[in-house]
Amino acid sequence: MNTTVATKFTDLNLIQPLLDRLKELDYKLPTPIQAQAIPSVMQGHDLIAGANTGSGKTASFALPLLQQVYELKKDKADNTSNKGNFVKGLILVPTRELAKQVSDSIKSYANHLNGAVKTVCVFGGVSINPQMLALRGGADIVVATPGRLLDLISSNAVKLDKVKTLVLDEADRMLSLGFTDEINELLALLPKSKQTLLFSATFPEQVKALTKELLKDPIEIQLQSADASSLVQRVFTVNQGQKTALLAHLIKEHQWQQALIFVNAKNGCEHLADKLSKRGVFVDVFHGDKGQGARNRVLDAFKAGEIDVLIATDIAARGLDIEKLPVVINYDLPRSPSDYMHRIGRSGRAGEVGLALSLIDHEDYHHFKVIEKKNKIRLEREEVEGFEVDQSLIPKLDKPMAKPEGTGKKKRKKKSDQTPDVWLNGTDSE
Ligand code: ADP
Ligand code: MG
Repeated sequence: MNTTVATKFTDLNLIQPLLDRLKELDYKLPTPIQAQAIPSVMQGHDLIAGANTGSGKTASFALPLLQQVYELKKDKADNTSNKGNFVKGLILVPTRELAKQVSDSIKSYANHLNGAVKTVCVFGGVSINPQMLALRGGADIVVATPGRLLDLISSNAVKLDKVKTLVLDEADRMLSLGFTDEINELLALLPKSKQTLLFSATFPEQVKALTKELLKDPIEIQLQSADASSLVQRVFTVNQGQKTALLAHLIKEHQWQQALIFVNAKNGCEHLADKLSKRGVFVDVFHGDKGQGARNRVLDAFKAGEIDVLIATDIAARGLDIEKLPVVINYDLPRSPSDYMHRIGRSGRAGEVGLALSLIDHEDYHHFKVIEKKNKIRLEREEVEGFEVDQSLIPKLDKPMAKPEGTGKKKRKKKSDQTPDVWLNGTDSE
């Protein structure tokens, strides 16, 4: 492989209609992951690609995939084009909103390909019939959440045996326990010989081990860096029972135009929304118990700046690209250290400045240390005036949680060793 890193889109052997579109979108230079991943994908390699949130991973697989499919279609010898319900490029993602976003990006990049590449997006929570219709006669690229794709396969609306390229976006999430059964079912339906591309901002070791079976001589690109980010991370300590008051205070003081607040459960969203509303803060909620129509409306309104404060579960943690989102707040800490990176990565995207705040009470203290350790960060604990932490708790705070009664004298396994680095079961999976 060429060792000099390409620095312009024109160095990447992209076809003119794609280059023209990138110019229109004002993409001046490829991001580092684009510069490195696009040539590898074009050469047909399997790939593990790790790069920070907001660093342009979508285009890293979408552009070469579009080009491959486009060229294949021009090649008369290819007789899979528009015959039967076959698919050539399959992109699997963890949430419905991300499916829509990735599919919209692909369609946008394909703007000057004169409709030659048919992209179809399928996900659950909405009527299946329009998706079946859209898939009639096959599709060049399908972007899907796994459950709905399996439903469509069992209705014979789509067939995977001609897939040439499989992409797992948010790959570590797709390979975590919450999706294991569905992914295995899909993998069994895919041809053995294909190109497989994994993209994520995080690849915990447990997941890397799983990728060995999935990939053939993969090229590995890991460009994650903690310091190159334009995102400022801060952590505020607070007494137990005072998080909501502190949060309301911060929202009022900073007058953020858009703030995304993460909690760990659907009912936690509603509960916090209630409490904040009573304190005069206007909020809306985004979680898996809402109907798809409501989910779309809320997310669109938030993106459009019509909702100042959105309280969400981790269904909003992965992949969503909300332009210039100024602040993300962890009201509850995420269980997995990886998801900390994904949550905060909704802010500070594409080089914009951003802020990530975590509110920790003494119950969170140890877990936050684990998150810091796994993500190789260390943040100064700060206090907010008027919300000073009870000093008498502080010496205890910095230690692991007290041993439960009667556990004997044996040294307890460090809690950090027990904390999973990936979601074992999502609180709010699709
Ligand atoms: P990731 O998947 O790495 O989190 P995305 O693919 O969602 O990031 O891209 C983040 C944002 O950056 C998107 O709004 C996208 O349009 C923009 N973007 C991607 N590549 C470029 C580029 N080369 N120049 C300018 N903006 C870009
Ligand atoms: Mg992404």
